[in-house]
Amino acid sequence: MLTLFKNARILSMQNDKIIFGELLVKDNRIAYIGDKYVGKVDKTIDCEGNLLMPGFKNAHAHTAMVFARSASDDLVLYDWLTKVIFPMEAKFQDDDIYHLTKCGILEYLAGGITACADMYFHVPEIVKASEEMGMRNMIVATSLSEPVSLLRERYNTLNKKDSLISYCLGIHAEYTTPKERIIEIANLAKELKAPVALHIGESQNEVNGCVERYGMTPVKFLDSLHFFDYGGIAYHANFFSDEEIEICKKRNIKIVTCPASNAKLASGICPVSKYLENGLTIGVGTDGAGSNNSLDMFKEMYLVSALQKLSHMDAAKMDGFEVLKMATVGSAKILNLVDSDVLAVGKYADIIMIDLKNPSMQPLNNIAKNIVYAGSKDIVKMTMINGKILYYDHKFLINEDVDQIYKKAQEITERLRGE
Ligand SMILES: [Zn+2]
Repeated sequence: MLTLFKNARILSMQNDKIIFGELLVKDNRIAYIGDKYVGKVDKTIDCEGNLLMPGFKNAHAHTAMVFARSASDDLVLYDWLTKVIFPMEAKFQDDDIYHLTKCGILEYLAGGITACADMYFHVPEIVKASEEMGMRNMIVATSLSEPVSLLRERYNTLNKKDSLISYCLGIHAEYTTPKERIIEIANLAKELKAPVALHIGESQNEVNGCVERYGMTPVKFLDSLHFFDYGGIAYHANFFSDEEIEICKKRNIKIVTCPASNAKLASGICPVSKYLENGLTIGVGTDGAGSNNSLDMFKEMYLVSALQKLSHMDAAKMDGFEVLKMATVGSAKILNLVDSDVLAVGKYADIIMIDLKNPSMQPLNNIAKNIVYAGSKDIVKMTMINGKILYYDHKFLINEDVDQIYKKAQEITERLRGE
């Protein structure tokens, strides 16, 4: 299948240049970018001057947690987790996570998100939902009850080449995982030569708790157990000491900032500028809809920049284009998606089209800055994943009944709330 996009502005994200030209997708990969393409094609899409760019990669999410959207607001973190979230999660049954994941993926498609890192339990249900919806998903293991042999098997079977699905080792967090389990996962990571992902350094309380338990801050404690010998992915990372930043550099621990969730739960502000100055890889995530409450990379990008400016009282901090790079290229590195980080020949066709005729995008002073500082899901005209257009002109082009997905999610949510 050959699909040609013509009359397109193209921001490859290899640099900040925008070219005007054509882009050809052959099956699931980009086959041509340049001036006029000469050759036969199966389908032509006239972009009418709109912008093609790589899709956003949501580097930290709990997709199925849409059930908790606006069910648990205006509470402190501990109450939010223990009084609302955990009791609702305890009522999961059958294929709840399968249906809820589908509901969350709809929001990704509508918001130009072409891949996510999904940390949740019931892995087979997430795999099924993602594959049926055409979503690229790096699933992050967190279950405490699953034996190491199962994690090993999943790691080996789900990390297949040219698949929408991949799998990353993980724990929920130091404070929710017994030390014996942390050591088990560290040993598995060493055996598989694999990085491990986790929530870490999210709140000052969490850091204080770890120091009380083990006499060390979380990154230092885990490193002492060889947890990060093959790298790591740190979600939130709001409170890392200078010593811990040095460990991140040494162990190739990548950072995912989730500013909306951290702001709303009053957890803290991730020192993104400092991490960048230290050469760390940074991606952007939404976290779950229970804390955020949306799965919207535009909101995250605005906050990444605005919170750095505000916390340093320096409006020159955190350039908007750097943030756009974090949400695309940086997040792709964290998801190990080197084949869909930028638009280039041979890369996966994980492409979005931005509607530059939306009033919030006019006039065109600086398109990249428009996207970061004035953008919203409203400007997403198309979302293509793996060469398939799954969303176009505010319509889902999937083999699913969208109303049924909403209905099912509503039913499940009401049951989890105990209604
Ligand atoms: Zn999270």
